[in-house]
Amino acid sequence: MSEAERRQQLAHALAAVEERIAAACDSAGRSRDEITLIAVTKTYPASDVLHLVDLGVSDVGENRHPEAGEKAVDVGEALRAREQAGAGLRWHFLGALQTNKAGAVARYADVVHSVDRPKLVGSLSRGAVAAERTLTALLQVDLGPELGRPSDGRSGAEPDDIAALAEAVAAAEGLELGGVMTVAPLDVDPARAFDRLAEVAARLQADHPDARTVSAGMSADLEQAVAAGATHLRVGRAILGDRPPLR
Ligand SMILES: *Cc1c(COP(=O)(O)O)cnc(C)c1O
Repeated sequence: MSEAERRQQLAHALAAVEERIAAACDSAGRSRDEITLIAVTKTYPASDVLHLVDLGVSDVGENRHPEAGEKAVDVGEALRAREQAGAGLRWHFLGALQTNKAGAVARYADVVHSVDRPKLVGSLSRGAVAAERTLTALLQVDLGPELGRPSDGRSGAEPDDIAALAEAVAAAEGLELGGVMTVAPLDVDPARAFDRLAEVAARLQADHPDARTVSAGMSADLEQAVAAGATHLRVGRAILGDRPPLR
């Protein structure tokens, strides 16, 4: 496929996703402006990120280091070469994050959606300070245990641990508490998961009024996420196509 054909393909897929979001906003009585679409470009090349920028995408998501960092560098260089460095592209890091990689991720991520333990807060904070940057931290909520799906222990903090984690982020230099994120547990009605996330988010906002981000919804369940009040959708396959199986 030529790059022109690829861009056309991405344009069609993006338009279809925008139609789904518009319909979901209509049903929920919400405005499209309340929602940020994050195109999840993991496993796809920097050239796809550039096409998406040209198509008006302002937020991209990645879930693995160093793949994400390399892509951010390549895209940054290409945008500078095109004198579009000010395109204002935001990089969202979505994946499970080891503390020993947090410093590196802090150099390029604008938002980290997977903050789930105090030790990671410390590492990200040190990384952000060293890089002279401010990162937005979202607390990843694991709703599995509550909804009858045992946790694998790597996919977030349980709702009861969110308040303490929020305090840690709020007190950390270089970090701003943005809100919450979840991935609906497998085999659970996503509407149930996202409604529960909305409750967790409301409780967080009572103590931290600026922490308004609710990151929920992917290709398969963005409608339920919009209905439940999500502010950020993380959509991969529906825009970029099916990913090759993970190695
Ligand atoms: C891959 C990924 C997504 C996107 O999933 P799709 O099903 O491709 O839309 C969203 N969130 C997280 C945390 C991911 O890892």
